Parts: sequence; C-alpha cells; structure tokens
Amino acid sequence: MDDLKFGKRNKRGDYAPNTPLEVAPIIVWPPQPLKLLRWLPNYILPWNALFMAFAAVIWFYLTPSKETLQTLDWTWIAFILVRNAVLVFAFYGAMELRLYIKRSQGNRFKFNGLFPADKKSDVFMFGSQNIDNMIRSFGTGVPIWTAYEVGMLYAWAHGFGPWTTFEEHPWALIAMFAIIPLFHEAHFFCIHRLIHTPFLYKYVHSVHHNSINPSPWSSLSMHPVEHLLYWSDILIHLVLPSHPLLMLYHLQVTGTGAVVGHIGFDKIEAGDTAIDSHAYAHYLHHKYFEVNYSDGMVPFDQWFGTWHDGSAEGEARMEARFKLTREKANAKAHTGT
Ligand SMILES: [Zn+2]
Ligand SMILES: [Zn+2]
Repeated sequence: MDDLKFGKRNKRGDYAPNTPLEVAPIIVWPPQPLKLLRWLPNYILPWNALFMAFAAVIWFYLTPSKETLQTLDWTWIAFILVRNAVLVFAFYGAMELRLYIKRSQGNRFKFNGLFPADKKSDVFMFGSQNIDNMIRSFGTGVPIWTAYEVGMLYAWAHGFGPWTTFEEHPWALIAMFAIIPLFHEAHFFCIHRLIHTPFLYKYVHSVHHNSINPSPWSSLSMHPVEHLLYWSDILIHLVLPSHPLLMLYHLQVTGTGAVVGHIGFDKIEAGDTAIDSHAYAHYLHHKYFEVNYSDGMVPFDQWFGTWHDGSAEGEARMEARFKLTREKANAKAHTGT
C-alpha cells in the first residue's frame, strides 16, 4: 500500500498523515449532532468493540464464580494475574511481532523512521527498550492492574458499591458503557498533567517517556506510582451504578487499550485496506512531551492550549508556546540573580 497517498515522509524518514487531528465533537458548544453521528463509529471501531469482546469472554469464561470471589484466595488471584499477563503478552506481542520484529509493512505509515531495536540506549535496562519495557509491564504493570481487578471483583461479590443488573437498571448501565472511554481519557488527562509537574516527572513519569520512539511494549512501561494512578479510574464503579462486565470492559480499555497510543504506525495494513490506529496524538506527546496530554476525545488540551493536531500550524503554535515558557524561565532566572 502506498502510504504517501495519505501522508508525507520527511528527510529523516518520519511519516506524518496529511489530515490534521480533530478533537471529537462530543464536548463542544454549540452542539454538533450531525458531526457527532459521523464521528461515533470512531468511538466504537476498531478498538472499543474489540475490548468489549475481550471483556465478555473474560466475564463469561475466565472469571471465577461469585462464591469463589467472596474469599480472597491466592489460587484465583494467581489465575487472574496469569490470565491478564497472557492477554497482554499475546495482544501486544502479536503487534510487536508483526510490525517491529517481522516488520511486515516495513516503515509504511511509521511515524518515526527508525525502529527502537536498531538503537541501543543507556536509559533502558540492559540497553534495550524492549527488555526494559517488558520488565516494567510484567513486573509492576500487570500485577497492579490485577490488584485493582481483584479488589473490584471482591467488592462486587460482597455487594460493596452500587452494583446493579441489566434487568434492574438498563439505562444506567448503557450510560455507563457509553461514558467509560470518555471518563478514562478525562481521568488520564488529569493524572497525566499531574505527573508532568517537575518533581513527579523526574522521579515517576520520565520512566514512561524514556521511550521517545514507542512500540507496543512501551504502553504499560511506567513507574509503579504511575501504574497506581493510571488504574485508579476504575474506582468510579464504586460510585456510579455498574456491573462487573462493564468494570472488566473498563480494565480492557485502560490495560489492553494502553497499546493504542503506542503502536507507532498511523495505519495497520490488512490486505488491501488499512485500519486507523488512532495513535498519532499520543505519538506526538512522546515526541514533544508538552503536548497532547489526552488523545483528543476530551477537549482539555484545546482549552489549556496544549493541543497539537500534527499540522504545520499546530507545530508553530507549540513552538511559540515553548518560546514563551523559555523566556519566562529566563526572566525569572535573571530576577533571581
Ligand atoms: Zn505513552
Ligand atoms: Zn507524558
């Protein structure tokens, strides 16, 4: 497939799509119902539909009975830990294998012209981005995800929280289903902004940003404190009416779904067609650090002036903002001496 029909490549070999990123027409004034209707398939396809399918398989076939969940026992907790690890290994690994090891679509649609494996770096354990990313993902990422999951299942089994059923409150559960990805992104923006403050960035979030050129394994490569904050949005199910299937869907959106921003390719080729990855906004965050704290589903970056849509105008706005920040810092340093 000719990726240059959809974008351009610079001298360094970095690819950028022609169409600037757009903020989703959900939280806008005045409302844009027609645009929202046209955009809705992007909300569901391809990712959220897939994560709902994963959640359904997990809920119906791979979650212990309510009776079992009422007692904290290492056997079922270990089962959930292994089940989550296998899912991450299989899903992330399949993408890594196809796009980064076999390189089956070369660098077509690849944002960064280089592959991380071709460049050793001292910032990573054993000098390897992949090894470092995997140690962090499986060392603390999946265990902390599992701890939240175990806690929520235990709470449901004991009736702690406003859990309900589809028969009792169908509309409340449909509303919950609809807002989960939106809520996840709003929560992510808030904690992400927090861990970009100097102290937390230096000691916590810099671990994730070591992967300037991310690949699927970078998705959950975080400091444990970031993992704890990252999955805390699941606690909403103890506040609003919910069902364990929706809680598991939420965990899929956050856990398995972390891969969405880190694929590193704008499209994934599938036969004669290509599937949009929705990865560009977060790729720009890894590239420039101080832009796109969310992925554009919520308009917070626009409101706070940190939105980069990938266009030349977006780049100029970012440069002007960085210049202003530098000038302010210089002026402050001058006043201080
Ligand atoms: Zn990231
Ligand atoms: Zn960041």
